[in-house]
Order: sequence, then C-alpha cells, then structure tokens
Amino acid sequence: MSDARHPGPLSDAPVLALGGIAEGVRYDADGLVVCVCQDAATGEVLMVAWQDERALDRTLRSRRATFWSRSRGELWEKGATSGNALDVEWARLDCDGDTVLLGVTPVGPACHTGARSCFGDDGAALLPHLARLLTSRRAADPQDSYAARLLHGPREHTARKVGEEALEVVLAEPRSEALVGEVADLVFHALLLLAHDELDPLAPLRVLQDRRAGR
Ligand SMILES: [Zn+2]
Repeated sequence: MSDARHPGPLSDAPVLALGGIAEGVRYDADGLVVCVCQDAATGEVLMVAWQDERALDRTLRSRRATFWSRSRGELWEKGATSGNALDVEWARLDCDGDTVLLGVTPVGPACHTGARSCFGDDGAALLPHLARLLTSRRAADPQDSYAARLLHGPREHTARKVGEEALEVVLAEPRSEALVGEVADLVFHALLLLAHDELDPLAPLRVLQDRRAGR
C-alpha cells in the first residue's frame, strides 16, 4: 500500500515527502508524542523517547533522531555529545497517530549505560539473540554445546557444514516443511561461520539494509 503515512525507506522519497507522517501526528496535551527507535537492520527496539513537533521536524530533515527531554526541557539530538547517534532510515506513524516509529542505524550504543539497547543487550529479537549467543559460545566449553564445538574446531569443519546445509536446501522437497528446516540449518551455520571468523554474525543484515537504502 502506498499510504502516505507509510513512506518506506527514506531513499525512495525525498525527506519532504515525510510531511505525510508529520501531519498525521496526534500530540498529547503537553505537545508530545512517543517515539520508538527500532534498529532498521535487526528489528531490535533500541530506545523510546519523547518528541515535540520541532524534534520530529528536525529528525525528518536531518535524518538524525532528535528528541525532547522532559527533564532538561530542551531538544536533544541523540549522539550530539556522546557520538552515539541514530541515523534515521525511515519513519512511520502508528494506526492512531500517537506513536512515531523510526527505523534507525545506530552509530554506537543506543543506551547511556553503554548497552546496545535500553532494553538490555540480550537481544529479545531472535536474530540478534542468536548472534550474541553464537559469539558468546566462542568462550564456552566445547563440551557444552554443538556451536561451541564447531567454534573451537578447525574453520574448515564449519565451512563444510555450510556447504552441506546448502546442498540439503537444494535437495529438499519443494514446498515442504523439510525445506524450511534446511534453510534454518543453513542460516544457523552461515552465522556460525561468521562467528568463527570473529565477524559480527549480524553484519549481513546491515549489508541488506544498506542495499535496501540504495547505498
Ligand atoms: Zn537507555
């Protein structure tokens, strides 16, 4: 649907086209609206803050998440002092106009505590959770888990598993539950290979997000 309230990726439309969401916002009696920031690549909810009309306007123009601080009584651009900015990829409004959802690429930890998310680092979203689990398994006892065993073993073993799982995907019965299971195995082992190489298992999601944004 090409609802003006749901403009999709910013790169598809000039920033001014986002006026569509600004017009639909229903501010509360204090002139504020809730703003939820979600990692555009992983789907993780990173933080929630308040925006007034100026904060939202600045956010949409600068593509840097900007909020209204109720405690300090001033606008604050996230990361202006800490460097931990949130680059805005897209903006949407919820069904009744009282919550703004920003899809963002975090430049650093979103939380002032240094955590990736204000809701903790254990990653409620499945892929971030799996990625952190795999990364943590590098330090685990190989007896403890299948992932730890592969992570401590030679790289070729993990790489070969990726190849085997890819072949099982190719050979799986079309339209079958088995195909779904094989794709799950392939994704799991591909993430494991990145963890084996001490790369971020979530990095491919950033690559996909960049492609979506046309970068
Ligand atoms: Zn926080």
